[in-house]
Amino acid sequence: MLDDYQTEQPIIYRILKNAIVKDECSHAYLFEINNYRHADAFIKSFVKALLCPEHHMTKPTDCRYCHLIETDNFPEIKVINPDGFWIKKEKLLALQEEFTKKPIMGDRKVYIINGADKLNKQSANSILKFIEEPDNNITAILVTNNLYTVLPTIRSRCQILSFQSVKQKFPEEFKTEDKLISVLSLNPESDENLTTKLAKVIDFINYYEKNHLNALLFINKLWHDYIKTKEEYDKSFELMILYYKDILSTKLNRPITLFKDEIEIVQNIADKNTVSELCYKINTIMELKQSIKYNANLNLLMDKLIIKLEGE
Ligand SMILES: [Zn+2]
Repeated sequence: MLDDYQTEQPIIYRILKNAIVKDECSHAYLFEINNYRHADAFIKSFVKALLCPEHHMTKPTDCRYCHLIETDNFPEIKVINPDGFWIKKEKLLALQEEFTKKPIMGDRKVYIINGADKLNKQSANSILKFIEEPDNNITAILVTNNLYTVLPTIRSRCQILSFQSVKQKFPEEFKTEDKLISVLSLNPESDENLTTKLAKVIDFINYYEKNHLNALLFINKLWHDYIKTKEEYDKSFELMILYYKDILSTKLNRPITLFKDEIEIVQNIADKNTVSELCYKINTIMELKQSIKYNANLNLLMDKLIIKLEGE
């Protein structure tokens, strides 16, 4: 229930609680997850407080509304998830059609769009007006992990609420791989294959740091044999950034967070690079990561990366 998040997410807890109590809820919210692990549960608690006629924020003894929402059986909530890389326009049109009907239960309807950064121009255009001027008693909840890749036309129509990222502390005995699964929000079961592939990303950087431009010659074996889809690229680039950040921390004699098991190699790469080279590399990877979703030719992206990394 919403009150459970009072200490963990004090800011957005207060904003939403006030809005509900004063009946001044916005018609569209955009939640930035910031890797907050309980984001889904938080949002569900908010939806309960919003839709339940009693606006329950602490655990009710017995409330049919809260119970139906908790068990995903409430008829007035519609959840939209991306199909592959984008959210399809057809889904959004169907949603709007469905939401012309009056609610059967209670007096409000809520739709949740997960992966709001996966609304492309076309699909976004089909829903902008609906977000901006919904019929009475419709609340939009959009959710993203990448606020800055959400289209500005969408961002400007929503109240943006960012979860505070809760720093993850790992017990000493945690292995690098387990930490990465957590930090990259991988699912250990469904993403098992991807987890294996990500080990190759570290191999790639280690090879590149030794051989520089020569990595271009072996890029198929080093990279393309493993990393293929846009999603794999996205996680791989994220991982490279984390790896270089740990290398930079080592260089600055700061504690490293993830790659303790690889400390010798990390130290070695730190020794070979200056601080400004490492910053440049992190920035370059971040920059190219942004272009993954618009890039039709991912093969060329890797050539570009290596050449740019050598650039400074
Ligand atoms: Zn209730």
